[in-house]
Amino acid sequence: MSNFDPDTFKHDYLGTEPDDIQLSINNRLVYTIGKDPYTAVAHDWLQALSYITRDRLIERWMETHRSYYRTGAKRVYYLSMEFLIGRSLNNALLNIGFRENCEEALKQLGLDLEELQQLEYDAALGNGGLGRLAACIMDSISTLDLPGTGYGIRYEYGMFRQAIEDGKQIELPENWLAAGNPWEFPRPEVVYKVRFGGQVMEYQAPDGQRRHSWIEGDEVLAMAYDTPIPGFHTETVNNLRLWSAKASHDFDLECFNQGDYIRAVADKTISENLSKVLYPDDRSSENQELRLRQQYFFVSASLQDILRRFLQINSDFQDLPEKIAIQLNDTHPAISIPELMRLLLDEYHLQWRDAWDITTRTFSYTNHTLLPEALESWPVGLLERLLPRHMQIIYEINRRFLLTVTHLHPDDITLLQRMSLIEEEGGKKVRMAHLAIVGSHKVNGVSELHSNLLQEKTFSDFHEFFPDRFINITNGVTPRRWLNEANPILSQLISGAIGSEWIKDLGQLERLQPLADDSEFQQRFLEAKRANKARLADLIMFYMRVTVDPDSLFDVQIKRIHEYKRQMLNVLRIIALYLRICENPDYDAPARTVILAGKSAPGYQMAKLTIRLINDVASIIDSDPAVAGRLKLVFIPNYDVSTACDIIPAAELSQQISTAGMEASGTGNMKLALNGALTMGTLDGANIEIRERVGPENFFTFGLTAEEIQKKRRLGYDPHQVYESDPELKRIIDMIGQGYFSPEEPKRYHTIVDNLLHKGDHFMVLADYHSYMESDAQMCALYRDQKAWAKAAILNTANMSHFSCDRTVQEYAEKVWSIKPPIR
Ligand SMILES: *Cc1c(COP(=O)(O)O)cnc(C)c1O
Repeated sequence: MSNFDPDTFKHDYLGTEPDDIQLSINNRLVYTIGKDPYTAVAHDWLQALSYITRDRLIERWMETHRSYYRTGAKRVYYLSMEFLIGRSLNNALLNIGFRENCEEALKQLGLDLEELQQLEYDAALGNGGLGRLAACIMDSISTLDLPGTGYGIRYEYGMFRQAIEDGKQIELPENWLAAGNPWEFPRPEVVYKVRFGGQVMEYQAPDGQRRHSWIEGDEVLAMAYDTPIPGFHTETVNNLRLWSAKASHDFDLECFNQGDYIRAVADKTISENLSKVLYPDDRSSENQELRLRQQYFFVSASLQDILRRFLQINSDFQDLPEKIAIQLNDTHPAISIPELMRLLLDEYHLQWRDAWDITTRTFSYTNHTLLPEALESWPVGLLERLLPRHMQIIYEINRRFLLTVTHLHPDDITLLQRMSLIEEEGGKKVRMAHLAIVGSHKVNGVSELHSNLLQEKTFSDFHEFFPDRFINITNGVTPRRWLNEANPILSQLISGAIGSEWIKDLGQLERLQPLADDSEFQQRFLEAKRANKARLADLIMFYMRVTVDPDSLFDVQIKRIHEYKRQMLNVLRIIALYLRICENPDYDAPARTVILAGKSAPGYQMAKLTIRLINDVASIIDSDPAVAGRLKLVFIPNYDVSTACDIIPAAELSQQISTAGMEASGTGNMKLALNGALTMGTLDGANIEIRERVGPENFFTFGLTAEEIQKKRRLGYDPHQVYESDPELKRIIDMIGQGYFSPEEPKRYHTIVDNLLHKGDHFMVLADYHSYMESDAQMCALYRDQKAWAKAAILNTANMSHFSCDRTVQEYAEKVWSIKPPIR
């Protein structure tokens, strides 16, 4: 250690006046980017601006970490395979109150800040809701001044870029790091070895204890990359540490010494493939070996890093649960549980009982889904080959756990089978959710309905066995990105009315309630929405060469394409509207632009077919003069955080139409309502809580409840009967099935129709169709009265305070992590 004194380190060049900023940008452009203002292209200026913004985070970032060491504060570690961050520049600029002066400085340089911002790549290290939640949680942890670190994988290729060709989705790799990532700091000195394969050796220690040692196999190195996560208007800057795979040097050397240079280099790329690409499957578990390797890779590196930091200022592992909390974002990092056990038993020589007590008091687990296809289970054979010691430990955890179950329920064999960590049927597999529940002290669902279903249905045996373990923590979204950054127009209107405290304290929005009846405020609220619609219309024109009318109703469904999210139900509605207008020119409905966006997993055929159908229907509607100016359907390609930020402020109607009981929470629903969109939704996930808070009269509810769905399934649901009894619905389905929207290939949509009519319509699309159309009619009636609509929209925004992720994180901090801001 040197005699470093941070106070000698305050640089003049970190000034924040426009003149200082200009000087900084010019310096960075020359000395970091290596360009002069004559040869610099726009992207060079973006990089220079990003670097000078980052510079202004660094001292706070370091001081934040010094303060954690100084105070010995308890920390939370958020383990997530995905962090869907999006762009960083604007977030950083606004968080440190630096944006206005930057804009001014750039103007003087003849540059436009907004234009530069558009050039930044999204950090798309996630699929959708789960990854975006992780990003929101990090934002709130910093804004609330809590000591927290995120751990994940630095994928070289994040989420694929979606293009639409001939109406079909095609996947393009997005090389987001190609131009360099100014937000990350490579830490070549922070590397850990991660072992795969090999074998377990049992031996007798000098003290007579039987011990295990995991040896041989292959080693991969995990190298850290750090990204600062600034809080809003606070000195706290936390860290997101992402791991990148590097070939192990020892391993290389061995081969080099044997003279096999080519093999050594080739093996190097095999190891480095580990962090190459994000699996693009949302809510379906990929049982690929590479995926399991990714999971253990980032878990092992993170736990080594966590224990190293713990041991710097602590010596007794009994203190671990008092000093750290580890949150598992879904079961993807659940292998952490046997990994911590392995470290405590094999490396630090604790007794099983102590190690298990420490482990369960340290971990907590967030469940994100009840869909059976998304519950992870890894073949025992694969685990035995890749992680032999972990498999032994899992068996031992299971043996001891089932012993306690047997103790309480001596004669219940089926109970043991249901609760076992090992699934026996169809080849032995480890049920990762069971492992996560048994190894954690708290398990949470992400909305009230979801948590109830977890406790009463999916994991009811566990809930009975561990009654205090299960809790609910409803998801939230960060008001920084999803209102203040995404929607500056509405943000200014709100701040003009009630001040800007809401950005950190969303409860302040309730002060807008009295303004819902104020006609002047209503007018200005509508004008803000109109301005955002005009902006989106311009973007659609610019990127897609498609005209949309900003005076039409913007009716929006944006999310991953999935059968349970029921984009198909929306398609049926759109076709119905199309037919009604075609057949009755006097049909009384507001002019409407329906906007859809979302990616399908590359191998998910039904979802891909749905995208194609949406685009086919869009082109039929487009080419029909009978509906011109009255109905338009647009599929916006490549839905990601940045497109979400463009679309959401312009949305007037938010489609949240999943089959009740299937959407764990949803967060898109929150972003849209926060921006003054009214929801048309089923009683599913957090929709229920949103409806409660904004008031049922300001929410278009339709469809069967989760209970009614279950009952209908039990009694035998016959979609064919619905089809036969509704002539309009029958006609629509026949049109799809007979190729009306795909005349060049009439059978294109047979499988869709077949699923709806003959395969039981698993997602109950037809069962909810009628109710959905009624809800649409009610919506149209309200839209005709723009004052009433404005009032309802204002009341949506005004009542969304519960859905700030600051509240979510506060609940985790109190109920699960037991952490507080350190006293500085
Ligand atoms: C919020 C968000 C999601 C989640 O949307 P849901 O409607 O809750 O499924 C997915 N993708 C992106 C890019 C998001 O911003």
